[in-house]
Amino acid sequence: MITVTDKRELAYYLNCAGQEEKDLFQYAAGLRNRHLGNKVYLRGLIELSNICRKNCLYCGIRRGNTTLVRYELTDREVLAAARYAWEGKYGSIVIQGGERNDRAFVLRIEALVKKIKQLSNQELGITLSLGEQRAETYRRWFEAGAHRYLLRIETSNESLYKKIHPDDSRHSFPNRLKCLEHLQKCGYRTGSGVMIGLPFQTTEDLADDLSFLKDIRIDMVGMGPYLEHESTPLYACRQSLLPVPERLRLSIHIVACLRILMPHIHIAATTALQAIDPLGREKAVAAGADVLMPNITPFSKRKNYTLYRNKPCIEEGTEEGLRQLSENMAACRCRIAWNEWGDSLKPATSDGPDHLTPWEEATT
Ligand code: SAH
Ligand code: SF4
Repeated sequence: MITVTDKRELAYYLNCAGQEEKDLFQYAAGLRNRHLGNKVYLRGLIELSNICRKNCLYCGIRRGNTTLVRYELTDREVLAAARYAWEGKYGSIVIQGGERNDRAFVLRIEALVKKIKQLSNQELGITLSLGEQRAETYRRWFEAGAHRYLLRIETSNESLYKKIHPDDSRHSFPNRLKCLEHLQKCGYRTGSGVMIGLPFQTTEDLADDLSFLKDIRIDMVGMGPYLEHESTPLYACRQSLLPVPERLRLSIHIVACLRILMPHIHIAATTALQAIDPLGREKAVAAGADVLMPNITPFSKRKNYTLYRNKPCIEEGTEEGLRQLSENMAACRCRIAWNEWGDSLKPATSDGPDHLTPWEEATT
């Protein structure tokens, strides 16, 4: 049995190698199989728009990047992608995009969520990943039919957070926390996560990130390597970064450690892993991940959703791509859970018998 109960153990397993590494991955994958079955869930990823009001220092679609062609999918394109996912038995979709909080945007998302539920006979699960919003907006979208929300904390170290974001009220760490609180209180299955291999980040920070995710009893996690983009301010720090293979290695170790720490949650094998290694996602599944997010954005648009360079999956979202993915999962001794949300095994916002969110607990 492998335990990662304190920071020292976490740091140890983040860095282990050889037979110990193999044992770690096998143990983590075994835990997933025991608690969730050897299933991998699909979330078809729809990249709604690269228009963003924020200026995160690491992100290729930040407002300040003027080298980018901006786009927004039409309602028709979003609904067609959702229908494709429903008919293809994906079970659920993720609508992700740059952050906007103007009224027209809020109402548009609300209407889109309702239409997607309608067109799929209420069957398609909907995750949103549209950044920081007012509590009232989160509630509207939840009532329209979205049931999951993904908002990464990016790093749980507030001083590191300040180094990778502009110093203004639009990029506030306390507000990020507040949003996660609102999401959980609202009833969403709430996802978060961090970037791995950021400049100035230490192994201790990563161990703290895992403890943070456990402490707030997150329902799902998407963590991936930080990948530099030349049209962003953080590119200036590229000399201080870990080599890319090391970021991949760390990312897979973190997936395994998180699985041991939180056996019941959903953990994504993120696209950024695939950007580093064509089989990066499969490696994460072999270390305990259970969610894949195939890109189903219209082909002509996805090349402009460049959070980082060398974004893969230009060919993804086809039947052939899915067949290949299914074969790769079989090689990891997993099978795709067609037509399933994967929510039934555990109550929202709980990693165990306790149904209260940490925020509710604090006030009871
Ligand atoms: N605007 C929303 C959703 C889109 S960004 C939001 O910020 O939540 C989704 C995720 O992409 C971010 O949370 C961040 O973790 C990741 N990301 C952005 N730039 C990246 C980069 N250069 N390398 C790796 N991941 C990046
Ligand atoms: Fe916008 Fe999200 Fe990129 Fe920040 S990470 S600039 S909020 S798209």
